[in-house]
Order: sequence, then C-alpha cells, then structure tokens
Amino acid sequence: MLRILHQIFRTGVVTEPLTDEVEAEVVLVGARLEAAIRRRFSRSLAIREVDAGSCNGCELEIIAMNNPIYNCERFGIHFTASPRFADMLLVTGPVSHNMEIALKRTYDATPDPKLVVAVGDCGCNGGIFGESYASLGGASSVIPVDACIPGCPPTPVELLHGILHLIDCR
Ligand code: SF4
Repeated sequence: MLRILHQIFRTGVVTEPLTDEVEAEVVLVGARLEAAIRRRFSRSLAIREVDAGSCNGCELEIIAMNNPIYNCERFGIHFTASPRFADMLLVTGPVSHNMEIALKRTYDATPDPKLVVAVGDCGCNGGIFGESYASLGGASSVIPVDACIPGCPPTPVELLHGILHLIDCR
C-alpha cells in the first residue's frame, strides 16, 4: 500500500490539458448537443456502447468522452450498462461472428425509438478487417444503423459532432 502511494506521489499528474482550440470546440459542440438533447430527450441521452469486435481503439476514444478532460456528462450524455435504459447504441468494430447474436439481442433489448450509430471505419463498413471467415463487416450487416461516424478511430470531438448531427437530423 505504501509503495503504491509512493508511486502515485512520485509520478504526479501525467495527463495533458486540451489545447485551447480543442477545448473551445468541445464547449461549442457540447452546448449545441445539450440543447438538442433537451429538445429531443427532455433531460439526458443514455448511451449503451457495444464492442462487436473492435481492436479497442474506438473504445479508448469513447471512454475519453467521459473522462474529466472532455467531461461530456456536463452536456447530458450518460453511459449506461444496460441497453434497457439506453436511447442510443454506439457500435464499434467489425461484427465478429461470435458477437452477432449478442448484438442482435442488445438491439432488441433497447426500447424504441432507439438510435444506432456505427462508430469507426470498422463499425461503418468493416474497415481494415472487411468481411472474412471471422468478420461480418459493418454493424449494418446485422442491425439497422441510423448513422456512421468514420475514422480510425474517430476523436471524441468527432464523436460529439456525429451524435449531434444524428439528433439534429431526426
Ligand atoms: S476503426 Fe480503427 S480503432 Fe476502431 S476498431 Fe477499427 S481498427 Fe480499431
């Protein structure tokens, strides 16, 4: 225990703050998103993230949305552990064969009206993995998809823009 505390104090804070430019963009798109969420969902947007076979690069960016630096909870975005409480699914990765049924069940368990967003090049169209003996390709090959956010991986700001675009278009 003392060794761990010693390590913590010796290492200090290693995270870097956002640049002024990115911070300004996060605040701008966040404010628009907050207004769109209030208009469409009254209070907040609950998201269930589904990793259908990704390399976890997209997950790192999605998790970053929720960290103290991006802090997207302030805009009314919450991540939920259960699809039963979700308004939106974020699906990453090419859909691996062994995740096909799980993805379908998650989709079915999410109450209507639900929004589905394919995240990353892999979620959009299979990306570098494409379709193979192990992969079914993009999320739309298994469930209906409302929007795609390309990138390998998309940044948190690009994710916010993609979510805002979908909510605004609906
Ligand atoms: S889009 Fe890129 S980062 Fe995301 S799962 Fe595919 S390879 Fe990984």
